[in-house]
Parts: sequence; C-alpha cells; structure tokens
Amino acid sequence: MAVVRRRSGSLTSLREGNRKRVIDALRRRGVASRAELARITGLSRSTISTIVGDLVDAGLVGEADGQSTEGETHAGRPPVMVSLNSSAGLALGIDFGHRHLRVAVSDLSHTVLAEAWREMDVDHSAGHGLDAAADFVDQVLEEAGAERSRVIGVGMGLPAPIDRATGAVQDSSILPGWVGVDAAADASRRLGMPVEVENDANLGALAELVSGSAAGRSEVVYIKVSSGIGGGLISGGRLQHGVAGTAGEIGHTVVVDGGPVCRCGNRGCLETVASTGAVAELLSTSRGEYVSTRRLLELCAAGDAAAQRLIADAGRAIGVAVANLCNLLNPECVILGGDLSAAGDVLLEPVREVVRRNAIPSAVEAVEIAAGILGERAELLGALALVMHESDRFFASQLDREAA
Ligand SMILES: [Zn+2]
Repeated sequence: MAVVRRRSGSLTSLREGNRKRVIDALRRRGVASRAELARITGLSRSTISTIVGDLVDAGLVGEADGQSTEGETHAGRPPVMVSLNSSAGLALGIDFGHRHLRVAVSDLSHTVLAEAWREMDVDHSAGHGLDAAADFVDQVLEEAGAERSRVIGVGMGLPAPIDRATGAVQDSSILPGWVGVDAAADASRRLGMPVEVENDANLGALAELVSGSAAGRSEVVYIKVSSGIGGGLISGGRLQHGVAGTAGEIGHTVVVDGGPVCRCGNRGCLETVASTGAVAELLSTSRGEYVSTRRLLELCAAGDAAAQRLIADAGRAIGVAVANLCNLLNPECVILGGDLSAAGDVLLEPVREVVRRNAIPSAVEAVEIAAGILGERAELLGALALVMHESDRFFASQLDREAA
C-alpha cells in the first residue's frame, strides 16, 4: 500500500502561502511593479509591500526604476519594478539518458553557466551513474567558478517512471540498474544538496513550457520519441503525475492489435512501432545492413524514400495515440521532442493528418502540433527549470535564516 509522502518544505501558513504567490508571480513575469503583483496575486497592496520588503532585505529580490509592462502611469515618476535576484543562488541539472549523462549549472534566471556531457553505458548501475554525476557536478561548478554553498537545489531526470509515494524508480528495461532505487535520496546523500527526481519526458515538457515551443501556454502535451516513447502532461501550467507517477506513458498505448510484444509485456504498444529502435530496425531489414538512429535521420534528411516512408508510418501511429489524447485532454499544443523529432515535417505531417481525421473537430481546431525547439538539451534544461519550480523551500529557509 502506497503511503503518501508529504513533500518536504510544503508551505502551509498563510504568510508563507502569500510569499509563494509573490515569488511564483515574479518567476512567471520576470519583472513587475508592486501594483502589478497585487493584481496578479489578488493580495492587497500593503501585504505585497510587506512581502516584497522582506524579500529585498533577504537579498532575494532586487528593485529598479522601470517601465511598467501594463502601462501604469504615476505622476512624475516611473514605478519601482521588482524582480527575483538571479544571482541569489544557483541551480544544478542532471539528465540521465540511456546512453548519455548531462550536467549543467545555471543562475536563477535559467542562464546556463557551465555544462558537461558524456556518453554512458546503457545498463550502468545507479551507483556508477550517480558517482559519474557527482564528478560532473564538481567539474561544472569549477568551470563556472561557482561555490557549492550557493546551489539551492538539484533537478535530476531519469528515463523511467518515478513512484510519487516512495520516490523509487519504477520498473524500466531502459535503466534496469536503477529499479527500486530512491534516486533522489541517494543523489542527495552523495552531493550534500537537496535533489528532486523527475521522469525525463516530464522535464522535456517543463523545458518547452518555460523556454521552448510551449512558452506562454498552459495546456500542453509533450511527447518524447527516442529509443522509448514517453509523454509529459501539463494542465493549468503544472505537470500532471497521476496517483502513482505514471501519467503520460503514451508509449504503451496499444495501436496495433496483436502487434509485436513490448518491453511492458503487452502487444502492439506505440513504442513497438514508432520508437527510433523500431523504425531503424525496419530500415535495417530492408537495406540488409545495420542502420543506427543517426544514420536513419541522415538518410531521411537526404531524401531516402524508404527512411522517409518508415518515419511517416511512425508518425501515423503516433497520430492515432495523439488523436485519442486530444479528445481526452483538449490541449492547446502537442510538442514532439526526442531523437525522431529531428525528422521535422516528415514525422509531423502524418501526425497532423491522422489527428485531423480521428479527433473530434473542436479538439482539432484547438490544437497546434509542433516540434520542440530545445532538441537534445530539453531534458537538461527541464531539470534546471524543476529547481526553480521547487525553489519555495530555499526561499522559505533563507527567509527564516534572515529572520533568526
Ligand atoms: Zn508497452
């Protein structure tokens, strides 16, 4: 029986709740006047003044004369604008793929200060992977000339569902060496920093929402099409996890009756016909030679008819699943990311065509289907964005220190 884990640092008191609303508004708006903050949060001007004053005293928020983005006019002087102080702390992002490890450090305005990448064995153990990540963390901090003590938190992405109740990595044949490991707790022990773990497709969704194709949207579906197929669902601007953390597993939607057996044990899952491995394998058979994902994409870009046909077939299969999803969720955009999204319209057009045919007209009218713009760095940037989304804890503890 799953025990619901109370997320540490959740803010309960009214004062903390109000402070979180102000910080959230500044995170979303970047810069705002006190009057704008009052309007956005629905709090009174005097409450806003008190909260902003505390944040300024703690060095978390800076003030500057500026132009209000809402065209406010004040007799004789421009309004004082406030923004989060991007140098108030640093974020670390760690992205584990099934063949790579990426680590980056950024300031709180999402500007990446240093980044490192390496190829890594598919079936590495969690311990081996986390050791490598810890080495990379030292390396990027040194490269950025950054002190460890300024890191407010670490976001970490894994290509597996994460159990929301226990924090454990769930069954996955992509990272078999990680199953059952509480990766956040383990990484936190090794690094001596707070770590949040998230599924990789969820991080891709977050990154595209914060600074990619889905910027400014709030009802978003992100689909990562690589060696596995995963999805990240955003509703009301927030990631949706479901009760056990597996929401968005679109790769295991059945699209072929009696199709090939999937790693999940079912038959005919989307992943068995539209993952990069499945498509490359079909092309390997037709060409009588081994075709890697990179080669598949090169052939597609060069206009190879078989490569394009097979990627279009994958697009049509993805379209079947996306059409159902549009009927259920009515998203404003569906973003395709992952390795296969590099095929561009060869993949996207068949997806759009099937969605137009299969989904109900009102859902079709509402949705834009586009490729992600962050490419292979999407999950890493999402890991950094996760820290900003989870930063209430840091702000709360820093303010408590100031008050003490
Ligand atoms: Zn499956």
